[in-house]
Amino acid sequence: MEPISCAVLVLGGGPGGYVCAIRAAQLGLDTVLVEAAQLGGTCLNVGCIPSKAIIHAADVFHGAKRFAGGSPLGIRVAEPEFEIKTMMMWKDGIVSRLRGGVYGLLRRANIKVVSGIGVLSDGKTCIVGTDMGRQEITAQHVVIATGSESVPLPGLPFGGPVVSSTEALAFDEVPRRLVVVGGGYIGLELGTAWRKLGAEVTVVEAAERILPQYDAELTRRVMARLGKLGVEVLLNAKAVGLDRSGPALRIERGDGREQRLPADRILVTVGRRPRITGFGLEELDLRMSGNAIEIDDQCRTSMRNVWAVGDVTGEPMLEHRAVAQGEMVAEIIAGEKRSFDKVAIPAVCFTDPEIVSAGLSPEAARAAGHTIKTATFPFTANGRAMTLEAEDGFVRIVARADNHVVLGLQAVGQGVSELSAGFALALEMGARLEDIAATVHVHPTLGECVREAALVALGHGLHA
Ligand code: FAD
Ligand code: NAD
Repeated sequence: MEPISCAVLVLGGGPGGYVCAIRAAQLGLDTVLVEAAQLGGTCLNVGCIPSKAIIHAADVFHGAKRFAGGSPLGIRVAEPEFEIKTMMMWKDGIVSRLRGGVYGLLRRANIKVVSGIGVLSDGKTCIVGTDMGRQEITAQHVVIATGSESVPLPGLPFGGPVVSSTEALAFDEVPRRLVVVGGGYIGLELGTAWRKLGAEVTVVEAAERILPQYDAELTRRVMARLGKLGVEVLLNAKAVGLDRSGPALRIERGDGREQRLPADRILVTVGRRPRITGFGLEELDLRMSGNAIEIDDQCRTSMRNVWAVGDVTGEPMLEHRAVAQGEMVAEIIAGEKRSFDKVAIPAVCFTDPEIVSAGLSPEAARAAGHTIKTATFPFTANGRAMTLEAEDGFVRIVARADNHVVLGLQAVGQGVSELSAGFALALEMGARLEDIAATVHVHPTLGECVREAALVALGHGLHA
């Protein structure tokens, strides 16, 4: 095949890679994208999108089941039934529609997409094994966006009943007994969904509480709800290995006791790691930061004109961070002056209730040396929350005590993921408590709680 030469070669067509390619093409750079599997990467194909589709289906089914016993809303339905095959087809339809959209965007931007595993032979050359043969691509700039992969546990390799999130997004039947190892993002999002769809679920978490990356004030509500849903959560517990006479998972409790948990499926969600093998990284000898590619505040690696974005650069491994980095790198290559100087990368955990966190928690703000004012406003005092039967939760605001600049915004509750955009905007604009208090918020909405929390922090709450 004829060698290709271009200005920008993007290795990996996930959100970090394909957004970088689109932005580069918009800026007039001749761009080639290499993707080994499917456009959209982890997020679109086996991550954010399919998981949120299943979570939604589980919520709707669980809600309908509640109505089978009557409800304060006066709605009563016959016992609902769930057809997993139909739901999976609906979920797959969303994924393929979005994937088609990405393909169309790349085509319209005149980006050449090469399908196959790309292997870098140096900082300017990539060899791709395509269906049609060996394709050599040389580029002035290489952007590594190879993403991440699930971490297996020693003694519990993936295979048979032991599955990663990818398989748990495509079960062909609802497992009768599902054991989830790891009470983090994926374990709790998917564990809760499968519980609502009918599985008996046990979560085995090594730390002393679930979602250790969020503060306990936020996670307490999720823990309580898991209990109400009938999800068993074993804390200070570690998976030891598979007991094949079952199958079952052998775990070790905090007190050293061993326990056997029978399970049809064991979902291991103990984190993800940057994908750094299989594409010639060793040839480039880039500086690493642990198992991630080291980058500076412009996503430059230690080699000139080799860039890295997204999960391959380590935590936080979130889609919106990958996108922001990819966009920025394209602009820098095109000659713009940019650096990754975000005040906050908000995070949402799509549990029940949802958690959103942007900026600093009170504890993190104090640890950073700030003297702070903090206030919370409960959904029990919000009309919209009542009409949505969503009173379990609150909004919390953290601000500097001296000049009232907002340092952090967090919330826990049903649907609070949608507050994340406002949180991020307030932080990036350097809002003070007074700015939020002076902004007219629509009634009745959950967003009113953000203004109310600011008012409480200023000492003149109206509804608290
Ligand atoms: P990826 O999306 O992993 O894409 C990398 C791409 O590179 C892949 O398509 C891969 O095939 C390709 N590739 C790798 N090596 C090569 C090679 N040698 N040649 C060619 N191509 C190659 N994040 C959120 O922000 N919100 C969520 O709700 C959320 N939910 C998630 C749920 C699950 C179950 C999982 C697993 C992840 C979730 N994430 C979520 C994380 C999110 O998916 C990642 O942060 C995001 O996909 C990272 O984008 P990326 O472009 O860095 O990498
Ligand atoms: P995670 O880091 O969120 O959680 C892993 C959990 O496993 C932790 O609580 C950890 O204490 C526990 N653990 C580790 N070893 C263990 C062991 N031996 N036994 C029992 N527990 C153990 O990781 P994840 O849930 O696999 O998710 C990976 C990444 O994917 C996340 O960090 C996040 O970046 C991304 N993600 C984001 C979202 C979202 O934004 N809503 C959703 C899913 C995934």
